[in-house]
Amino acid sequence: MCCFIRSTLLAQDLGSDKLRSSYVYSLPTEKGKKVFISQGYKGWFSHKKQFALDFKLKEGSPIYAAREGVVYQCASHNTKGGMNKKYLSQGNHIIIQHEDGSYAAYWHLKHNGVSVVKGEKVAKGQQIGYSGNTGYSTSAHLHFEVYTYNEKGNQVTFPTQFETSKGIRQLKAYRFYRR
Ligand SMILES: [Zn+2]
Repeated sequence: MCCFIRSTLLAQDLGSDKLRSSYVYSLPTEKGKKVFISQGYKGWFSHKKQFALDFKLKEGSPIYAAREGVVYQCASHNTKGGMNKKYLSQGNHIIIQHEDGSYAAYWHLKHNGVSVVKGEKVAKGQQIGYSGNTGYSTSAHLHFEVYTYNEKGNQVTFPTQFETSKGIRQLKAYRFYRR
């Protein structure tokens, strides 16, 4: 269980869980390995207003791009994390911009756990980093969300669908999935 990012990540103008795009994302985890969703969309702990997913992963697990795009922002210098809001700004992360203007954020990566650089073009399924427990996070996991900006300049997260070993799915909390 875990994590939170910045208090500006509000989805206040989202009335429903409807998909905004038919794009099918790839699971950001290792091919063939089962992964547990420890917190799902609008999760009680820290996703109350977010369409975000927490993938429970051991520190150092490889992370893969869920969709192709360009690295918009990344940080890997942070070393600390824990269940304290003082760590909110200390999460290592990668943000990838997609061709439709949306962004995917991958959070809590381990120290020096970013394999890409800002401006780099990444392919879907490309290994981009390693999971960890930096920032506001109670245990090692990957926080993943897709968002755009609304007219007021606020980030608005939205639901996405994924290719899984059992077909195309919207991921649900407390279930296992396999790429
Ligand atoms: Zn999270």
